[in-house]
Amino acid sequence: MTDVKTVHVIGAGPAGLMAAERLARAGLKVVVHEAMPSVGRKLLMAGRGGLNLTHSEPMEGFVGRYGAAGGAVAAWLETFSPTHLIGWAEGLGQATFTGSSGRVFPRAMKASPLLRAWLARLAGLEVEVRTRSRCSGFRRNDDRLEWLFTTPEGERVERPDAVLLAMGGASWPRLGSDGAWAEMLEGVAVAPFRPSNVGFDVAWSAVFAQRFAGQALKPVAMTHEGQTVRGEAMLTRYGIEGGAVYALSAGLRDAIERDGTAVLTVDLRPDLSVEALAGRLTKARGKDSVTNWLRKAGGLAAPAVGLLREIPGELPPGADKLAKRIKAVRLTLTGVQGLARAISSAGGVRLDQLDEGLMIKSLPGVFAAGEMLDWEAPTGGYLLQASMASGAVAADGVVEWLNSPPSPPSSSGLTRG
Ligand SMILES: Cc1cc2nc3c(=O)[nH]c(=O)nc-3n(C[C@H](O)[C@H](O)[C@H](O)COP(=O)(O)OP(=O)(O)OC[C@H]3O[C@@H](n4cnc5c(N)ncnc54)[C@H](O)[C@@H]3O)c2cc1C
Repeated sequence: MTDVKTVHVIGAGPAGLMAAERLARAGLKVVVHEAMPSVGRKLLMAGRGGLNLTHSEPMEGFVGRYGAAGGAVAAWLETFSPTHLIGWAEGLGQATFTGSSGRVFPRAMKASPLLRAWLARLAGLEVEVRTRSRCSGFRRNDDRLEWLFTTPEGERVERPDAVLLAMGGASWPRLGSDGAWAEMLEGVAVAPFRPSNVGFDVAWSAVFAQRFAGQALKPVAMTHEGQTVRGEAMLTRYGIEGGAVYALSAGLRDAIERDGTAVLTVDLRPDLSVEALAGRLTKARGKDSVTNWLRKAGGLAAPAVGLLREIPGELPPGADKLAKRIKAVRLTLTGVQGLARAISSAGGVRLDQLDEGLMIKSLPGVFAAGEMLDWEAPTGGYLLQASMASGAVAADGVVEWLNSPPSPPSSSGLTRG
């Protein structure tokens, strides 16, 4: 009888749980450690927004969303594509639908039924889940790594055959993924965490912030450095956030880090050409206030008029110039909101530290997946897709590594026992 090998997965988010499922199906003994008292807290939070699981756009555009990491993510999607993800969710009893924007959601529009069914499946596969088990690091003992866990019963030491790290990024730390793991991976290059899919500061007047915070700008088209995104944005006391802003947030964040400020150009009437809008604005104002006239003739909602009037300088005279202004309001962003409120984070284990199976090259037998790797993407389902796909790839990497002939004892990582 051959010994069943044991793999410990650290972090019970979507990446870790996907890895655990795949490892258990491959016949391995799987233990999942989760620092928090319950699993999948960020997944459940994502469910509050409807749980955008993935996106239906063609693969070329899809992988383009991951910027510099697109090549690596394309390989992960060969193992676990959007079609696989949809089939997997449906296999857990969660029928899905594709919204008009191409985003894919479970019909339930929340994560809890999916997570419940998933945990039941993992229990059926005899995956052991240990909550309140926080990995505090590892140490070398002879030619093996020993992994240390802080638990309510005290410190535990584990010597598994392989380890799969899925401890998440560094956004919304109160949900468990606080990025503290970066300290424990000595010798592994980790790109600094930066907020991604995040709001930006704007120096609103007190009157504007009081009147319009919490109101949406929709539909709008937003442009930064030649990239235009249509969608919605939310005005907040500190500035601006929401889908269209998040889609541009990586470039805006980089520009603010570089230059101190960034200019976001907002088209408040994206469905009309300048000429068509100017034609409407030739309508006489009569007894209407400017605000009312802009609402009626320009078809602008109150927050859009407010924004137009908030920008320094008088409204330009003449329908043509005014139409051009409405279609290109220049908003100066003065700062980036922090990691605590960012939907995701950029940074993490640099992809050049990993082999194709997502094993950390300097730590044989130690694999990593999910948002703890150095990639970023806009909202739209791209985050869960890449997290789960990388979890699947890392699990396959573990299986392959455990099945490959043993190499001479390593001085740095795990040896195969
Ligand atoms: C408000 C919000 C809404 C979102 N909506 C969407 C959406 O609709 N669609 C989408 O695609 N994405 C969305 N996301 C992003 C998505 O949830 C994440 O990208 C995804 O959860 C990352 O998965 P992960 O498994 O890599 O990490 P996480 O889900 O962060 O899981 C990591 C786990 O590791 C645990 N952990 C950390 N350190 C340790 C340790 N030392 N020992 C043991 N355990 C540890 C953490 O407690 C955590 O449970 C949203 C995020 C937020 C915050």
